[in-house]
Amino acid sequence: MNDCIMCNEVVTNPVCMNCVEKEVEAWLSEVRPALVEELKAKTEEIEISFGDTNCILCNDKMCICTYCYTNHIFNWLKKYPELIIEFRMIFDIKKNIKLYECRVSNKSLDVDAFFGPKTL
Ligand SMILES: [Zn+2]
Ligand SMILES: [Zn+2]
Repeated sequence: MNDCIMCNEVVTNPVCMNCVEKEVEAWLSEVRPALVEELKAKTEEIEISFGDTNCILCNDKMCICTYCYTNHIFNWLKKYPELIIEFRMIFDIKKNIKLYECRVSNKSLDVDAFFGPKTL
């Protein structure tokens, strides 16, 4: 277990950017397929596969935490205000990590209770 090279925080619940990217890609394919290529380019900008931390989903080496990656994508998506609200709702960083915990531990998740009432 090592620190994230971007924020220097200890990486807890390590999920690598490729695994997060897959989630973002699945979402973008539905709402804005034209942006999928750009998403991949954005991921490559900070993609580094080394470190002592292994992703809990795919076991790849990683050294950038889920938070920093999601934040990187968030900054890019700011160009598309109509998407950013939805992105935040789906990929809220802390909630997202909880979501992965549930998924990994195979706990069922009450999505409505989890994301709260839809107030858009
Ligand atoms: Zn970080
Ligand atoms: Zn992974």
